[in-house]
Amino acid sequence: MALLSIVLPAYNEEQNISNTAEVLQKLLEDNGTDYELIFISDGSRDNTFSEIQRIAEENPRVKGAEFSRNFGKEAAIFAGLEMAVGDAVIVMDCDLQHPPQVIPKMWELWQEGFQVVEGIKQNRGKEKLGYKLSAGLFYKIMSRLVKMDMSASSDFKLLDRKVVDVLLALPERNTFFRALSFWVGFRTAPVYYQVQERQFGESKWSFLSLMKYAIANATSFSTLPLQMVTVMGVVSILFSIVLFIQTLAKFLSGTAVEGFTTVILLILIIGGFLMLSLGIIGHYIARIYEEVKGRPKYIISKVAGSVQGEVVGTWKAHAR
Ligand code: UDP
Ligand code: MG
Repeated sequence: MALLSIVLPAYNEEQNISNTAEVLQKLLEDNGTDYELIFISDGSRDNTFSEIQRIAEENPRVKGAEFSRNFGKEAAIFAGLEMAVGDAVIVMDCDLQHPPQVIPKMWELWQEGFQVVEGIKQNRGKEKLGYKLSAGLFYKIMSRLVKMDMSASSDFKLLDRKVVDVLLALPERNTFFRALSFWVGFRTAPVYYQVQERQFGESKWSFLSLMKYAIANATSFSTLPLQMVTVMGVVSILFSIVLFIQTLAKFLSGTAVEGFTTVILLILIIGGFLMLSLGIIGHYIARIYEEVKGRPKYIISKVAGSVQGEVVGTWKAHAR
């Protein structure tokens, strides 16, 4: 029988773990699906990991790991994919905002031969206005960059074993899971769902962390900002040719005394452009630096459940 792995990244989610595990266990057992649950605690500062250990002792189908510190949701997702042994893997939030009732539908589509099942949001759930606006802008830009409509996409998706192996084989450290599943291609089907209210606790995203996430993802997927630097350069060269001719003509006709204001303005504008361009280039160099260092995506400090001994060696080899 085919095995379904469910990967659940969790950061300070002690209140959600046992409830989420119960809901999923019941659903999958009622459906007669062979499954495993993989909880990755992303360096939580509460009792998330001891909760995971507790359920792993009760149910051999539950396993998990704890990071040595907070590495971010992307890293937690990839650690989960690494630990999963299923023929298909579903990634979902552990606060039940991704409705588990959709899982049987995803599983069915996989059995029909689809290799990627994308969870598409039909509503955006409860979000603050600032979040809504910045997320809206971000997805507009991202959709342009990836050349696919990402506005309603989410991290809730099912991936076939082949796709998981492809993702794990990608050498880069700065990943954007949501867009990568589009990028790798394969036979894809959508599944629509309503974003639920968070069960317990609160959202982990601050405005600042969202902005950082947005910039990191946009630049990890595209070099468009670099091309914008070139465009800015071309525009200012055209502009300076016009000014050059005008200034020279004035000088030759003997009326070139005034114009200090123009000089000040030009220095300010060009200085601004230069610093902005340097910033953009610097950002990419920083990303290259991070990639070149080749540090792992995450560090696991503890494991729970039957993985002990068995997969640890693999993590070292694959340490991402
Ligand atoms: N999460 C994580 N690491 C982080 C932040 C979040 O693993 O640094 C997990 C979190 O526990 C949850 C999922 O990512 O399972 C989505 O986070 P959250 O619910 O806070 O985001 P929202 O649903 O508000 O977008
Ligand atoms: Mg959530």
